[in-house]
Amino acid sequence: MRTLVVGNWKMNETATQAARLAREIVDVLSMPPYRAKRSVDVVLAPPFTSLAPVRDAIAEHDVALGAQNVYWADSGAFTGEISPPMLLDLGVRYVIVGHSERRRYFGETDEDVRKKTQAALAHGLRPIVAVGETGDERDSGKTDERVTVQTRAALEGVTRERLSEIVIAYEPVWAIGTGRNCDPTEAARVIDVIRASVAGLDDVPVLYGGSVSPANFAQYMAMPRCCGGLVGGASLDAQSFALLVRIAGEARP
Ligand code: PEP
Repeated sequence: MRTLVVGNWKMNETATQAARLAREIVDVLSMPPYRAKRSVDVVLAPPFTSLAPVRDAIAEHDVALGAQNVYWADSGAFTGEISPPMLLDLGVRYVIVGHSERRRYFGETDEDVRKKTQAALAHGLRPIVAVGETGDERDSGKTDERVTVQTRAALEGVTRERLSEIVIAYEPVWAIGTGRNCDPTEAARVIDVIRASVAGLDDVPVLYGGSVSPANFAQYMAMPRCCGGLVGGASLDAQSFALLVRIAGEARP
């Protein structure tokens, strides 16, 4: 199973700033001790407006381009939306679907997430499917049920062969951007619940996301079933992000 470190820049950085940040990241990753052949797939997911400049900044480097969202239709009267072919044409290889901020602020449903996942797969984009419980759901003992329902809904209709192109991220909503990261042992337990929710997920990378930082990431990477991180805040600083890549690489040489 591959190890991934994915930087979700959310709605941060203008195109000019994003190009600069991407250049800083690849510069740090090109220096020892980061330069050694990497066992870690690194993905940068800037806002749509920064995809092209970030693509140019990471060209020639072993870093992949990701998007933060996608619509399921190829083209048409969907003002403001971006389709899989548009992303592919820009060099995008991964797309985050079902991030809790999309579910919460933009009303994305499990059904939307399923359509986006299928559209991404149909076009050869690798979906990074985000699932996770809210604080209230955790407090009322609904964590396992919630991640099971979300995972099953997102992957409904996906064939066994196609599952190998999926990445899942366990992102407890209460841990995102709060500085309150989930206990790593508990995250590993929920990751196992996610894997058990759909047949064939044993070899699918499942990441942890939620206030990951260089201070806590090694504890997640010490969990054999955790395959890396989906990182928000700490991905906006080149040194911190590169350190996360290094930590992942040291844990899974
Ligand atoms: C995220 O954006 O997916 C995320 C986990 O954010 P943060 O690392 O800032 O909690």
